Amino acid sequence: MIPRLARRALSFGTRRKLTQYETTADRILAQESDCRRLSSGGLLDRVAELRRRVQAGSAIDGIKQEAFALAREAAWRALSEHPVPVQIIGALALHDGHLAEMKTGEGKTLTAALVCALNALTGRGVHVATPNDYLAERDAAWMRPFYDLLGLSTGVITQEMDDDSRREAYRCDITYGIASEFGFDYLRDNLKFSAAETVQRGHAFALVDEADATLIDEASMPLALFGPLGDHSGFYHAIDAEVASLQPSHYEIDHRRRVALTEAGYSEIELRLQQQRLLKASTTLHDIASISLLHHVMQSLRAHVMLARDRDYVVENGSVTIVDRLTGRPMPGRRYDEGLHQALEAKEGCAIGEETRTLASITFQTYFQRYAKLSGMTGTAKADTEEYRDIYGLDVISIPTHRPMIRVDETVLHSTAAGKFQAILRELEDAAARGQPVLIGVPSIERSEALAAMLEANGWRQQNAPAQNPGSSRTFSVLNAKHHAREAQIIAEAGAPGAVTIATAMAGRGTDIRLGGEHADALTRARVIAAGGLLVIGTTHHDHGRMDEQLRGRAGRQGDPGRSVIHASLQDEFLRTAAINAPPTLLTEQAATIAPSVATLLIEAAQKRHEMRSFDRRLGLLRFDTIIQRQRDNVFDLRQSIRDGSDTLMLVKRLRHETVDDLINRFATPTAPWDIAGLDHAIRSVLTLAIDIRPPSSDPKADAKVLTQLITAAADRWIDGKIASMGETMFIDILRRLMMALIDHLWSEQSERLDHLKRRIGDRGLPPHKVVAEFQLEAFALFERMIVDFRRDVTAYSMRVGILPS
Ligand code: ADP
Ligand code: MG
Repeated sequence: MIPRLARRALSFGTRRKLTQYETTADRILAQESDCRRLSSGGLLDRVAELRRRVQAGSAIDGIKQEAFALAREAAWRALSEHPVPVQIIGALALHDGHLAEMKTGEGKTLTAALVCALNALTGRGVHVATPNDYLAERDAAWMRPFYDLLGLSTGVITQEMDDDSRREAYRCDITYGIASEFGFDYLRDNLKFSAAETVQRGHAFALVDEADATLIDEASMPLALFGPLGDHSGFYHAIDAEVASLQPSHYEIDHRRRVALTEAGYSEIELRLQQQRLLKASTTLHDIASISLLHHVMQSLRAHVMLARDRDYVVENGSVTIVDRLTGRPMPGRRYDEGLHQALEAKEGCAIGEETRTLASITFQTYFQRYAKLSGMTGTAKADTEEYRDIYGLDVISIPTHRPMIRVDETVLHSTAAGKFQAILRELEDAAARGQPVLIGVPSIERSEALAAMLEANGWRQQNAPAQNPGSSRTFSVLNAKHHAREAQIIAEAGAPGAVTIATAMAGRGTDIRLGGEHADALTRARVIAAGGLLVIGTTHHDHGRMDEQLRGRAGRQGDPGRSVIHASLQDEFLRTAAINAPPTLLTEQAATIAPSVATLLIEAAQKRHEMRSFDRRLGLLRFDTIIQRQRDNVFDLRQSIRDGSDTLMLVKRLRHETVDDLINRFATPTAPWDIAGLDHAIRSVLTLAIDIRPPSSDPKADAKVLTQLITAAADRWIDGKIASMGETMFIDILRRLMMALIDHLWSEQSERLDHLKRRIGDRGLPPHKVVAEFQLEAFALFERMIVDFRRDVTAYSMRVGILPS
């Protein structure tokens, strides 16, 4: 957290920036008449000239005023919209890599397009990330005529596209796409076998629209590529057999209903696993190399001790089906993750279901940190200022609205949920009498169904639903469509006279609610304005104040009239889960509503607590993820250098020599008697060589050195012979592919082990500040092992490559 003083300095800094941007914006606007005189060819020529200058090395900041002035003119010609001063200011802030807070309906799409056009002049590609496919396609299509006038190409990435179309879209000057697809393309590119197969061409500049959705709400949900994993059913059954026979003294259950092994339990299971050769003799489950084994043992223990048949799951037709805790209904098709479901199947003697393995994964946090320049925009950012700065290095700049905002915002805290509902009903009746459109915000789809049922019980009729109250003229629609495009359509009509729409705060985001309806005539619009504009009713506070703002922000766009009121109650889950208790005097009072001053205090305290919780959780995850990212970078870099590299022979040689060193260090240390038999066996199995090893003399260190040279020389001769017989090109080609495949395999295993480590590290009861340090240490140890495995496997393969079937 930043101290108050620093915070004030910061807001001073952003104020000063805003003033600078205003001055610059004035200069840009002053070029309007100049630009208007240009022919369309003239406009293109001027842009082409700017592009040449930037690509010849001119600073982009030196040309930005001219570029924005030309872009403004292009916007006017292509879209009949002249970017207003606040849009230019927003564009300048975005160009400087800030997070621009611009209210809903202020025209962020066009603002972003100005910045994209400017940055596209570098020729290095601009990525615009949106929260869904629908918005990516809409915005690209909407802005394309504008980019066309400037001679810039526009591409879109959507989920169903094949690699060729993706590559083409990435080759465009500006590429729109859903944020997750950008991340997935990055992961997939890192599994390709040649540079020509990759689709992305770098990470120069990303602009994230609706940044709070992508950079905050979904930030810690990893994007994961899955691939099928071989049949491991034997493994699950073997573990199950051992865990099944543990006694109650071997484990304990703590107050958080988590099961753990006792000391006796550890010794017992280790012994059994060693007997089954699942665990090497002389190693324990606490060894870093056993992290995945330990994970599966713990999952099996959970399956046996914590999950009960016919309570948590049922067994039908030889398969395990999870039972919903709340409703008691079986949920076919759902599976526990992380190997727990397989552990249950083993426990119940069912066939082990197909398994997939994470091939590679990344979070939005780490993906977007890859870009040389990042900026974002959203209607609501203020509450997340610290998170944007701490995690993404983005400063939040609040851009003033074009027209003054005249929306009225209220909050009413009721004592009971019933009182709250009555108040909402009254609001609806009032609005209906005036013909005022209403948008009702609910926290989840389930809650929208509950509210719909209550409205129906009070004489309202749901549109497009089995008729309840068929005669009623008071109708409402519920927005729970699964398709973004359909969602957008319903939201767009939420401003029609007398419309009542129930939706979640996030539904249809990015879609503007116009008073009167999407294509309303002036008369309809005037009617709605006379009725007070859009009325937004919140039915509870959200855990995060930003969501409340997002919902309220649906009304009062671009200076429209409007009102928002959140009806909350002391019985709301939001207050209960924050563990904020209303003072008992409040509850004994018979008042139907709580005094506004007390209500504000309660709600702010609860929101603060919810926000801190989720911020801490994300920060914790980010710390793990930063450590993982360093490994991922290393692995991907190595893979890329192999993919594009010219020094394959050198690399293979280095790996071979290091492998020999590894073997000598392991079996022929100066400090202990040499393990000659072990060394002989290793040389035979890894290097396919038979070397005459003499026992060490009085100087084992010197002897080890001589032995190293002997082995190395023999191995080198063997490889030289191979190269001579199969030809260098073929040898290199085979080894390059082999090394890449090996890296993918090892990294996928490593990712999984890191995941297991992330889960299991919490079980150790470490003080919080030690957890990350411990994770780092163990993650590094795992990484080193992976590297040793890599060079051993490459060496072993290369020594045998001649006998691989072609
Ligand atoms: P936001 O993303 O900020 O919520 P949008 O980009 O969806 O807003 O734009 C909202 C509406 O404002 C759109 O209908 C757009 O055409 C309109 N608009 C944007 N900029 C201008 C402008 N400079 N002049 C006139 N209309 C504009
Ligand atoms: Mg938008």
